[in-house]
Amino acid sequence: MGHPMRSPPRAPTTDTIDTDRLIAGVRAGDRRALAKAITLAESTRADHQALAQAVMAAVLPATGQAIRMGISGAPGAGKSTFIEALGLHLVGQGHRIAVLAVDPSSSVSGGSILGDKTRMEELSRHPHAFIRPSPASGALGGVAAHTREAMLLCEAAGFDIVIVETVGVGQSETDVANMTDVFVLLQLPNAGDDLQAIKKGIVELADIIAYNKIDLDAVAAERAMGQMQSALTLLRPASPAWRTPVVGVSALRGDGIEPFWSEVRRCRDALVASGELTAKRQRQALAWTWSLIDAGLRERFRHHAGVRDALPAILGQVAAGSLTPTAAAARLLAVAQFRKEEGSHRA
Ligand code: GDP
Repeated sequence: MGHPMRSPPRAPTTDTIDTDRLIAGVRAGDRRALAKAITLAESTRADHQALAQAVMAAVLPATGQAIRMGISGAPGAGKSTFIEALGLHLVGQGHRIAVLAVDPSSSVSGGSILGDKTRMEELSRHPHAFIRPSPASGALGGVAAHTREAMLLCEAAGFDIVIVETVGVGQSETDVANMTDVFVLLQLPNAGDDLQAIKKGIVELADIIAYNKIDLDAVAAERAMGQMQSALTLLRPASPAWRTPVVGVSALRGDGIEPFWSEVRRCRDALVASGELTAKRQRQALAWTWSLIDAGLRERFRHHAGVRDALPAILGQVAAGSLTPTAAAARLLAVAQFRKEEGSHRA
């Protein structure tokens, strides 16, 4: 840390944090300041949140310049191998890369699909790369609430490419698609994988579909890619300005990385040229606002004293079949009366 701190440094207390210095550090691209700002944004403590929001507000004008790429794929699809290969390629071209890994499994199972192994070892040591897992648990407003703020902080710190990675669990793919410019689906050349992705509607979110591990069986890869190409003609495109291409890569060998990246560039250019990027980011910001409002209302509902008192009996009646869900919900919402609750704060 450089300077002496007398208090135990477990959780930073607000008076040990110099907000101006933190903001300046983030703006200067100092990775330690960036990491600290993200930690504050992830904290559930009210004083940390207040600081985090001050930092966010100060850096907001410096955000928005990066290429935001989302990437999803099943565990084992090769995401970390692929991001490492792509990231090393891009830092080699002079880019600065931030990788945020959203791991919904940490909240679903208590375990972690993304975090348990050493990932992207070489990239993580590169001075122009920043890699950070984004905890999914406990976030108000969905698995990705903190990831959006982390993404903005990375942009303010001068990272011109932000990659948000997730696994195909629950809402996380939709969340990541809803915060990035270009959403990539990393697939394996086997039919089961494709059918799953099509059924879940993930293919329709994808701006680019990349088949990985084509080194293992070139014939199977060609076949899978051809089938996906045909399937795409039947599905709604993710964007009216862009037709989703299907590309083959071998993350392990580093094959197809440059053609892949040129598709990302082409996609983003098409979105910019059509005005779709601006519209998309506006939609994303508004949707984010609404999801925070929804989460805030839900939180207040659940913590409302009257609701907590009434809840067990009313839910018991619903379970017993003596009260309809509609009537139960109406009764509980009436108990909550958000407007009165605000008044009672002052009383
Ligand atoms: P993740 O769970 O999606 O992050 O997948 P990993 O990147 O950890 O890769 C899972 C396994 O697949 C690892 O053993 C990788 O070495 C291997 N792998 C990744 N990409 C390729 C590839 O292009 N070809 C081959 N043959 N193996 C790969």
